[in-house]
Amino acid sequence: MTGKLGGFDRFRLPAALLVIAVHTGPLLSVSPFANDLITDIWGRIAVPFFFAVSGWFLVPRLEREGAAALGPFLRKVLGLYALSALLYLPLNLYNHTLAEPGTDLLRDVFFNGTFYHLWYFPALILGACIVWALVRGLGRWAWIPAGLLYVLGVLGDSWYGLTAALPPLRAAYEAMFLCFDYTRNGLFSVPIFLLLGGRLAGRPRRHGAPACGALLLLSMALLTGEGLLVKALELPRFDALYFSLPLCVGFLLLWLAALELPSVPALRGWAAAVYILHPWCIVLVRGGARAAGLTGLFVDNSLGHYAAVTLLSALLALPFALRRPARPRPDARAWAEIDAGALRHNLAALSALLPAGAALMPVVKANAYGHGDLEVARICAGQGVTAFAVATAAEGARLRRGGVRGTILILGCTGPEEAPLLARHRLTQAVVSAAHARALEAAGRRLEVHLKIDTGLHRLGFAWDDGAGLAVPFRCPHLKVTGTITHLSDAEAADPDSRARTEEELRRFRVAVETLRRAGHEPGALHFQGSYGLLNLPGLPCDYARPGIALYGVHSAPGQETRAKPDLRPVLSLRARVVQLHRLEAGERAGYDGSFTARRPTVLATVSIGYADGWPRALSNGAGRVLLRGRSAPVAGLVCMDQLLVDVTDIPGVTPGDAATLIGRDGDQEITAEEAAAAAGTITNELLSRLGPRLPRTVLE
Ligand SMILES: *Cc1c(COP(=O)(O)O)cnc(C)c1O
Repeated sequence: MTGKLGGFDRFRLPAALLVIAVHTGPLLSVSPFANDLITDIWGRIAVPFFFAVSGWFLVPRLEREGAAALGPFLRKVLGLYALSALLYLPLNLYNHTLAEPGTDLLRDVFFNGTFYHLWYFPALILGACIVWALVRGLGRWAWIPAGLLYVLGVLGDSWYGLTAALPPLRAAYEAMFLCFDYTRNGLFSVPIFLLLGGRLAGRPRRHGAPACGALLLLSMALLTGEGLLVKALELPRFDALYFSLPLCVGFLLLWLAALELPSVPALRGWAAAVYILHPWCIVLVRGGARAAGLTGLFVDNSLGHYAAVTLLSALLALPFALRRPARPRPDARAWAEIDAGALRHNLAALSALLPAGAALMPVVKANAYGHGDLEVARICAGQGVTAFAVATAAEGARLRRGGVRGTILILGCTGPEEAPLLARHRLTQAVVSAAHARALEAAGRRLEVHLKIDTGLHRLGFAWDDGAGLAVPFRCPHLKVTGTITHLSDAEAADPDSRARTEEELRRFRVAVETLRRAGHEPGALHFQGSYGLLNLPGLPCDYARPGIALYGVHSAPGQETRAKPDLRPVLSLRARVVQLHRLEAGERAGYDGSFTARRPTVLATVSIGYADGWPRALSNGAGRVLLRGRSAPVAGLVCMDQLLVDVTDIPGVTPGDAATLIGRDGDQEITAEEAAAAAGTITNELLSRLGPRLPRTVLE
């Protein structure tokens, strides 16, 4: 389920071309039959495909987070709808297609869209709300009403001839058609495709690309047959919905997912822009051809018309293919960018190291190593993650209040005074000793706990060979043991001594688990690997692995060798704004203590980030650097609490407002977290987890 989904991105291209085809009829002047096949039958896959892809990402989140996930989604779609409606207002006015204020306008705004293709947006909004309500009320049975709605939709669409033969049914539909022009809308046709995507997203992959491709072809043949049949029988009122369409879209998604292609985010913005802009392009091509006297080639010739509209749409949409530049908040002095795609990729790459049946329990303590705990947890939940680990009860409670469901394990030692907080938020607590268990028991709250075994780190946990102590939590009526865990002390290094120590710690863990079992106690879920345990001992039987740093796509230190070498991508980029420039004569000094001396005429840029933001003061005086305009600028003088100075003498054109990169890419240059941490004499775990609350986190999808 968490694999590479670049196939979805790629299919947006043919899907966009199909939508234009549906609206232009490219083969009309060549073969009306072939044209019908494309526009009335095969082309009808395109828009449901977009709905199903939305469902793939949205529905699992709706199931986990409910309204918390629905709100932002609706806001986004509503924003796009409003913008698009505005864009088409001139054409509405020119064509007099704007409905009079009243029921007609409501009908257009809520169902039909204010311009013909814009029905997509109100449909997506209504469909998402219905699906949210259905999964909330019915859980996994939500597809039954969604399926029934779709059947009603098809009977009002390409199979309408059947319906029309039954007078009462026909009357019912005619009444409905007062509210909307077609049953191809958010009520009838969208819920099924959203749910379809959502269900497929949560399904383990069973078949390879060839099998899925064959099933897709088969379902396409079915669709073709159905389409030709209803046409031959003259049944359609409109020809957008077919009984076999969900089948085709489902196998299409499975096939595209099975291809495991790397993602192409640029195609997402581009395809959306083509969809929104192409009716304008139709108008422009017609107008342009008339003005140039070329109607024969670009209007009457359907292929020429299609080519011109497609080309123009593709060109006009091009700016939307570009990744937004790294300036998410023009007012931010410094910020962290979180690359959701990289995080999803790392989840998939680390999942691949697990044995069958095991799952990841991402460690999101310390604000997800500085990445933003809620942001990270939500992205993980969207990929099917159902267990998280944090260090403190307060961190766990924060996740719950933010809508995170599933298991949340508190790794640190929580005192009995926090038992009410643990209970209220259904947090799972690591129990570290018999005394700890008794203290929690005495608090009188029902708690889920995992036993933490000390196998050599000597930080927290029951001594591995303390059979009597280990039995205590099982005798505490308020405590329910659902897991047994340890933390390895030396999994990072690959030398034989470290290997031997790790083997011994694993042996001690197994002995502790055996001791429990022999005493008739069920140890529950077993887990013992952090990032390096997983990277150096992939495939080890367990129920969970608890990666932290690796999930964020970096190693603790530069050049670390691990047994497994998954392709991990850095998730966080750190940027800060240039706020002022200073020109210094040779010999002039700058910074506290005059810590910088200009050896030549020098330009210094003030960058608004400092050690209070978590940027180490150890990176003063050239130990650290930033990227500006794709080039490297050394830190000049001492890093201050809220600012630092960089020498930009050799970088022409630096201006206040520029974004400096402290971690991440700028052009073909990159500063890795490993580099910065090593230069500051620490590891990335410390550097990242200390990035402070003053930095807004911006998630880039
Ligand atoms: C922090 C922590 C982890 C994650 O460690 P990484 O090395 O960052 O993967 C796992 N388990 C426990 C007990 C931890 O405290």
